[in-house]
Amino acid sequence: MFDHDSVDRRISDIAFYASELVNEGLLEGLNTPEYESCTSDDFDWLGVHGNEIANNFFKSFKKHYTHFKTYHGARPENVGSYLKHGLIGQDAENLHSRFRALFSDCSPNNIDQAVENRNKGAPQESGSVFFTTDKECLTGRGFSGRLVFGSEYFIALGVRLSKLDSAAYNYRDRIKSIGIPTIFEIHLPFELLSNNEIKYTSNQLLAAWGNRAFFPEDYIEFRSAHRINCTLPPQFIVNHWHPSSMVDPDIISETITNEMTTCDYCKKGNETIKDGK
Ligand SMILES: [Zn+2]
Repeated sequence: MFDHDSVDRRISDIAFYASELVNEGLLEGLNTPEYESCTSDDFDWLGVHGNEIANNFFKSFKKHYTHFKTYHGARPENVGSYLKHGLIGQDAENLHSRFRALFSDCSPNNIDQAVENRNKGAPQESGSVFFTTDKECLTGRGFSGRLVFGSEYFIALGVRLSKLDSAAYNYRDRIKSIGIPTIFEIHLPFELLSNNEIKYTSNQLLAAWGNRAFFPEDYIEFRSAHRINCTLPPQFIVNHWHPSSMVDPDIISETITNEMTTCDYCKKGNETIKDGK
């Protein structure tokens, strides 16, 4: 499995599966001073056969690794249902019925109108599930909304409903009151991803190898995000935990403390996981 946690280690691993392609000999033959860095979208820095080397490196990468270690942030009402059924992409009907239940004191006509207004011209993301290789970003600026509010779709509906129905004025607090902030660790199998998505990481790794040798000051960790358009089967969920704090998506300088750090499905005793550690 490929994890992004240590680029140094991942570069050292290259010796086990692609040493005939990427090695000291190749380094010595390169004339990189004319470049500012080793890029991952153009392999001219690897010489005239750069793109061919990158393509062959990708083939070796794909033979050696079968999964990416990734993370998914959510706010499930029932963690067990995720562990049993897997991660199911956005299911509009299910979201609508949960939304109706949460705002059962509002007029059904207003809820219908809010749904209709939301769907006018909005992109349909039905069935997609998103993953990141950077677990820190899920509690940070930009992404913590998924842990705090669950579905962004709920917020979009809440905004519209509150304009139509004064009873929904506190929609943000209501949405925050359901579910438990959860980060799932997923071993995402390559067979659910396109070749392009996998090659993106293989290219980044090859560029990191070049940068470590020639431009160590520019040599950085790299991360990626992935999207699948099907349900992620439950056997690929290997762990989960409930972060104890996250950035407030409404006021990014503030942190929200989460008191719900365990659920019925958390591992017990010494195996209890806190904040992914
Ligand atoms: Zn749990």
